[in-house]
Amino acid sequence: MLLEVHDLRVEFHTRDGIAHAVNGVSLAVEAGETLAVLGESGSGKSVTAQAVMGILDMPPGRITGGEVLFQGRDLLKLTERERRKLRGAEMAMIFQDALSSLNPVLTVGDQLGEMFIVHRGMSRRQARVKAVELMDRVRIPAAKERAGDYPHQFSGGMRQRIMIAMALALEPSLIIADEPTTALDVTVQAQVMDLLAELRRELDMGLILITHDLGVVADVADRIAVMYAGRIVETAPVYEIYKAPAHPYTRGLLDSIPRLDQKGRQLYAIKGLPPNLLDIPPGCAFNPRCPRARDVCRTDVPPLFEVTGDRRSACYFWKETLDGHHHGG
Ligand code: ADP
Ligand code: MG
Repeated sequence: MLLEVHDLRVEFHTRDGIAHAVNGVSLAVEAGETLAVLGESGSGKSVTAQAVMGILDMPPGRITGGEVLFQGRDLLKLTERERRKLRGAEMAMIFQDALSSLNPVLTVGDQLGEMFIVHRGMSRRQARVKAVELMDRVRIPAAKERAGDYPHQFSGGMRQRIMIAMALALEPSLIIADEPTTALDVTVQAQVMDLLAELRRELDMGLILITHDLGVVADVADRIAVMYAGRIVETAPVYEIYKAPAHPYTRGLLDSIPRLDQKGRQLYAIKGLPPNLLDIPPGCAFNPRCPRARDVCRTDVPPLFEVTGDRRSACYFWKETLDGHHHGG
């Protein structure tokens, strides 16, 4: 297994109290596999990614438990120096906002080239050749000429391609993309997502794709992990989730995206708001918003029940949820 996260816990000490951002997350990604991590804003997706990458702000953040095994090594036990060596070379991250992640005063060619100079000891000239190759690879037109341009001279979609190029430069075995297309318009989103999926296949990398948009993951992900209030509430192969969710929250997410195969159907919005992480409701955190909630849901935290061999749901009523969907109810 490329990456295995076991029971990861992260909290933030704030003036108003302790925000429980990640509350026992476990997940795994194999080489060549794409795991989509899905959930509304504030569910702990980015914090999980930051803890895995070793870029969490500490303080105010604090990892209070768990393991992050990367190729068998527990990253949480490494020194900052060792972690820095892994970043870029072995695991890389793509962020939502390319403009604030790229250096505004360096040309794109120099920025990409820098990776090869610093990590591979190449000359400036060799590095420029590699930079242009990378720009070609992420399909930036007229790469050679454009290598001399600055980030702000590119469109949002092109900048996102440059970020992907940066992440791919050293051919890491794991990429974490945190809402990589959220800031783009819909057609550009699809192009960037397709590119990412294609490169992932070519390079046989593991990819964690974080998104709040279930619509974008259908074609690119192998598995989905749905997060709510810092926990994974359902995990399954993509096609199974689309066929029938086994958690009412996943159901709500699915029902709130437009689907081509269900034209004319009323779009649905999950009622209520995500919980305040300073004060997560007792029992199942989703219970105040859940159409299926019963007494047990308000008192006991549901474990991840095994639905099938590779599917889990943290709902006491996963069976009814599955059946309800099959019957169209
Ligand atoms: P998302 O699922 O939208 O990526 P995040 O992982 O960014 O959510 O954040 C989850 C929660 O963690 C936030 O709602 C907030 O309560 C807390 N949090 C994240 N970063 C910080 C921070 N730097 N300081 C305090 N709290 C934070
Ligand atoms: Mg986020």
